[in-house]
Amino acid sequence: MEFDLSKKYCYYFKQISDIPRGSRNEKAISDYVVEFAKAHGYEYKQDDVYNVIVNKPASPGYEDAKPVILQAHMDMVCEKNKDTVHDFEKDPLNLYVDEKGWLHARGTTLGADDGQGVAYMLAILDDKDLKHPALQCAFTVMEEIGLLGAKNLKKEDFYAKRYINLDAGGEDQTCVTSSGAARAYITKNLHFEDNNDPSYLLKIRGLKGGHSAGCAHLERGNAISLAFRLMEELKEQYDDIRICDIDGGLKFNAIPRECDITFASKVSLNDLQAAIKPLADAIASELQYSDDGFYAVIEETDHFDQAICLADSNDIIDYLYVLPDGLRHRSMAIEGLSIASSNLGIIHIENGQLFIGDLMRSALKSHGDQMIRQFDLLSKQFGFDFKINDRYLGWNYEKDSELREILRGVLKERGIEMKEESTHGGLECGIFKGMIEDLDIITYGPISEGEHTPEEKLDLASFDRAYENLLKVLERCK
Ligand SMILES: [Zn+2]
Repeated sequence: MEFDLSKKYCYYFKQISDIPRGSRNEKAISDYVVEFAKAHGYEYKQDDVYNVIVNKPASPGYEDAKPVILQAHMDMVCEKNKDTVHDFEKDPLNLYVDEKGWLHARGTTLGADDGQGVAYMLAILDDKDLKHPALQCAFTVMEEIGLLGAKNLKKEDFYAKRYINLDAGGEDQTCVTSSGAARAYITKNLHFEDNNDPSYLLKIRGLKGGHSAGCAHLERGNAISLAFRLMEELKEQYDDIRICDIDGGLKFNAIPRECDITFASKVSLNDLQAAIKPLADAIASELQYSDDGFYAVIEETDHFDQAICLADSNDIIDYLYVLPDGLRHRSMAIEGLSIASSNLGIIHIENGQLFIGDLMRSALKSHGDQMIRQFDLLSKQFGFDFKINDRYLGWNYEKDSELREILRGVLKERGIEMKEESTHGGLECGIFKGMIEDLDIITYGPISEGEHTPEEKLDLASFDRAYENLLKVLERCK
C-alpha cells in the first residue's frame, strides 16, 4: 500500500506534515488553514490564540438540514527517538509507509493525533461534490497541553447543534462520554520555629500510581493520602510531632507513588516505628490486590534545625487526613467507568509555604460542584487558602443521540457492530458541551496506534474507510 496523494485527505495529511506544529507553535499551520479558506472563498475566523473556524455552506438539497460542527486539533505531541536528528521547530516530518500499510514518521511522532482529523476536514472543505448540511470546521490549538485552544472558543461563533469530534481512533467505535476537570491550588503560609529534637523521615514507597483518569476505577493507593494517614496515627499517640518538610507526587494528573515527610519528635525511632506498624500492615492488606508492593518506613535523617510549629503541623496532618481522595462515583450506565474522582497529585513546601495540587474530575457538573464546595469548606476549617483554576465541564453519557444512531447505521452496513467507548479523561467534546448545552456529539476517526510516541502509526486502509464512513454520516445528516 502506498501513500496515495491523489486522495485529498492523504494530500492534505502530507501538506500539514510539512508544517511544524507542536503545541504553542501553531501560527504557521493556523495561517495555512486561513490561506486555504481564503483561496476557497469560505467565511472563516481566526482567533487570538490561532484557533480557526471555517464555515462551508450546505450542499444543494441540504439547505434545511441541521448544520454540523466538525472539529480536530492542529497541534501535535513532539516526541522523537534519542538518535533521531529532527528539529520540531522547522523540519517537516519524514513520512514512510511500512510493508503492512501503516504510515509512520521516521524517528518521530506522526501527528496522526490529530492530523488525521485536520486532513479530513481540509479534504471535505476542498470537495464541492459532497452532500452534507452546512459545516462549521473548527481547527483548534494547544489540545495536547490541557485543551487550551478549545477553552478559548466563543459560543457565538457556533450555530450548529451537532458535533463530530475527529480526535478519536477506532473506525468501529465512538466515544459517548468524557469528564470535566478542575485544578485545585491549595496553599498555607507556615510558621517555622527552632528545632532541637531528632529528625525523622517517613517514606511511602512501592505504589503503582498511574494516570488519574484512566486508573481511578482501580482504587490504587495515593502515597500522599497514605502518608498522612500514618502521620495522623503518630499524632494520636504522641503530641510533639512537628513537620519539617513534605515532598510527594509530581503532577496533577498522576496518582503519586511516593511521598516523604520529614518531622521532628523526642520519641525514639523504635517507638515511632512500632506506632505505625499496625496501621501500615492494615493498609498493606487493604491494598494487597491493587498495590501489592506498598510499604512505609520511618528512618533517622539529617537534623533539621527548623520545624513547622505544632499548631500548623496539627492542622496540616488533620486536613490531609480528612481530605477526600480517589474514586467518588462510578457510572451506573457504563460498566467500569469512573464519573467522579479527585487526585491529590502534588504536595511540597517552598519558601515557607505549603502547596497542594489536586485534580478533580467529573462527567456531571453537579458532582464537580460538590467536590469543590467540600474542599473549600475543609480548607477554610483548617486555615488553608483554596483556589480553582482551569475548570472545564464534562460530557455526561446521553441515552439518546441522533448522530450516534446515524453512525451506528453506517457501520452496520459494513457489517460492523459499533462499539461505545467512554473515558474519565478530558476531551474537547466536554468543552463544546459546556459551551453548547443541547449539543449532540459523536467522535470518529481511523485506526492509529502509539500516539504521543515515535511509534505512532496510522492504518492507511482504515484512513480510507473511516473517511468514506464519515462522508456517509454527513450525507445522512438530512
Ligand atoms: Zn488528540
